[in-house]
Amino acid sequence: MSIADNLIKYKSELDPLSVKLIAVSKYQEADAVLEAYHAGQRIFGENIVQELVEKQAQLPQDIEWHLIGHLQTNKVKYIAPFISLIQSVDSLKLLIEINKQAAKNKRVIDCLLQIYIADEDTKFGLGFDEVIELLRDEEFAALQNVRIVGLMGIASNNAIEKQTRDEFNELKTLFDGIKVSFFRKDDNFKEVSMGMSGDYKLAIEQGSTMVRIGSNIFGKRKLQKPVSKSED
Ligand SMILES: *Cc1c(COP(=O)(O)O)cnc(C)c1O
Repeated sequence: MSIADNLIKYKSELDPLSVKLIAVSKYQEADAVLEAYHAGQRIFGENIVQELVEKQAQLPQDIEWHLIGHLQTNKVKYIAPFISLIQSVDSLKLLIEINKQAAKNKRVIDCLLQIYIADEDTKFGLGFDEVIELLRDEEFAALQNVRIVGLMGIASNNAIEKQTRDEFNELKTLFDGIKVSFFRKDDNFKEVSMGMSGDYKLAIEQGSTMVRIGSNIFGKRKLQKPVSKSED
């Protein structure tokens, strides 16, 4: 099936009023993104800042770009002028830097807090206690140029269905609790980003509002993954 056919399949399956489709174009050539764009897709997710910046410069300017991969503080400045949503905020330090760069660009940048829900040590994200701590921090309360619009999580790889369902359920339950405690009067806090090609149906069943689909739309990833991955 072509990229356009795959998108049609998703469009018919998802209720656009409750679930947004993020086409994950990481490691795909710009031409593939353009093909999806011509089929009507406007929201794309990327993992790597450099790849994102290069694609953003050469592709149509009305694309909404989401960063879904780990973000180092020293790279925030490259995406701050244009990014629509940073889904992978996993520390207060990072949020403070996003706020600073957003202010420089005279913008407010929407963010999701990434929550660690998987039963693996390889995934980034805040623990359940850490997210509450962050939201209670005075430094967080003072940030004027970031807006927290929800939570994001990645379930364990290759888990049995029950475990995946439980992980998504934990994220949705955490979201509901945080909504009541911290964002009761804030209608912008409404997104639960969970679900990928292999588990999006379970995620929607558990209340996902954003699914991030890569391989089911684009097929195998084409570009080389970067070799080194330095942490800050
Ligand atoms: C790669 C990636 C996806 C998409 O994965 P697929 O299995 O190809 O759909 C979704 N979310 C994140 C955070 C990713 O890194």
